[in-house]
Amino acid sequence: MGLDDRQLRQRLLAMDGSSYRTYKDLKGYYDFPRFTLIIDHVQGDPFAAPSQLRVQLATPEAGFPAPLYSTPLRAVAVEDFLVRRFHGVSQHLSQRRGMGSSGRVEITRPSQAVLQRSAAHLTPQVLEIRFTVGLPAQGRRILGRQAAELLCDDLPTIVDQSLFYSSLDPQALQDQVATVEDSHWLRQQLSDRGLIAFVPDGAILPRHSGIDDRPLPQAIPFQSPPDLRVSFQCPNRGTLRGMGIPQGVTLIVGGGYHGKSTLLRAIERGIYNHIPGDGRDYLVTNAQAVKVRAEDGRSIAGVDISPFINHLPLGQSTTQFSTTNASGSTSQAAAIMESLECGAQVLLMDEDTSATNFMIRDRRMQALIRKDQEPITPFVDKVQQLYQDHGVSTVLVMGGSGDYFDVADQVIALDNFRTQAVTAQAKAIAAQYDTDRTPEGGSQFGPITPRRLTVSYTPDDSRNKRKAKGVDTIVIDREDIDLSAVEQLIETGQLRAIGAALLYLRQNQLHGNDTLPVILDSLMQSIHHQGLDCLTPFPPSDLVEFRPFELAAALNRWRSIQLQ
Ligand code: ADP
Ligand code: MG
Repeated sequence: MGLDDRQLRQRLLAMDGSSYRTYKDLKGYYDFPRFTLIIDHVQGDPFAAPSQLRVQLATPEAGFPAPLYSTPLRAVAVEDFLVRRFHGVSQHLSQRRGMGSSGRVEITRPSQAVLQRSAAHLTPQVLEIRFTVGLPAQGRRILGRQAAELLCDDLPTIVDQSLFYSSLDPQALQDQVATVEDSHWLRQQLSDRGLIAFVPDGAILPRHSGIDDRPLPQAIPFQSPPDLRVSFQCPNRGTLRGMGIPQGVTLIVGGGYHGKSTLLRAIERGIYNHIPGDGRDYLVTNAQAVKVRAEDGRSIAGVDISPFINHLPLGQSTTQFSTTNASGSTSQAAAIMESLECGAQVLLMDEDTSATNFMIRDRRMQALIRKDQEPITPFVDKVQQLYQDHGVSTVLVMGGSGDYFDVADQVIALDNFRTQAVTAQAKAIAAQYDTDRTPEGGSQFGPITPRRLTVSYTPDDSRNKRKAKGVDTIVIDREDIDLSAVEQLIETGQLRAIGAALLYLRQNQLHGNDTLPVILDSLMQSIHHQGLDCLTPFPPSDLVEFRPFELAAALNRWRSIQLQ
């Protein structure tokens, strides 16, 4: 039999003034009147990573109407709503009580996207929320009265205000479930309609700032050009109209500062479902769309970049290209090939983050530098083949070179943040002004070669430590993996989960002879069936779902493993 909340209070009061380690005795279950509190892990001191706790409620008692969570997707939408609410209420109510993290109640911080997170799990039987608490101390001494207030007064208030249906806004919750369900449905419709993205009329694409992902106030709402206008009959929301971007090669053109990159960035994020009011609600993109870019200085391990790069000066292999310090062009070629290896169906590229010599090679340069002196076949000669041979579409922001008009299937212009379809004009200009280029690189795209992993890893070498810094860096043992160029990662919890997945792979799977896509697929299957919990030995509170592309991106940049 567990203790109840009054007994917990007495224990905490009795611990007052004791050494911090005495808190370790708290591990276990406590029966509160309206929920069960579980203390899984107790921190070693007030400055260590905070203690890990869970709250469990019987779902029928929490009062959620069953239709709200009757499908896995609906449950994710409700869980996300509860994490946001718990986050808001705990930020408001919890207060510092002592040193270090003392007094703080923290749940993983959600972005604008609705994601599956290990912090919340809702089934017809149980609602479980996981969070951390800084157990109060002054120096190495327990502050027992503060701990009792925190766990026995504040925590029940936070739970009351955030996890019971009766204390939530039922309309807002219903909206979130409906929006997520419609967005998912729209994304499923795209390929049947021959589209790779849908941008609804009225969407707000620009963000508050580079570091604030909320919508920009007073932005000009998106308006679809008539030539690309499509409509959908959504299950909940009814008719939605907007711009459908067809499969194939799409150029986004327009003057500088007219909103090209903003449109592309919104499309990048269309792989996620957004919360109502984000401005990108119902803006959806093919789930296998990957943003690729140049990233000079990164490491590359055994990638077949031969469709783009051949005959390097020192006779280096380009079918198994490795380097610890890539150039802009080789890094962009590798990013494309790595995405294709994992099954990307759409590539998203922006001239702002591309290597010029990878994107174009014009008539004059072809005349000055002969093909046998230039290892790079520019993307302009490959982008249409990629679609013809492999069915992979590309959306490319390209304000700087009209050489792409010949190979584009559609051209979208931005003028003062307003879109226009200008395909016919672009094609007429292409016919009138020939580029006079000689196409390079042959008539086919070339091979996409999956790699195998080998790893020189001895278990005693490593401490299996992982951590994430923001959305840019994963640290494994002492090595930084730089993911700042992996732009579709949006929550620190995704990096934590990818870090856990890397350790899991190192432990369990890197020794076999499978190819990378097979290994990633089997890991994603495990997560699909068992949840993110399968990645760690104890219940994690702070992991967030991720795609195989971003996991592969981390593996591809992990310098201490080898792929071939
Ligand atoms: P480009 O890539 O064409 O140079 P950007 O997409 O970077 O332009 O946009 C330039 C600026 O305009 C950014 O600060 C962006 O936030 C802002 N912006 C983009 N779209 C809109 C819009 N629809 N309404 C208002 N401001 C916008
Ligand atoms: Mg730009």
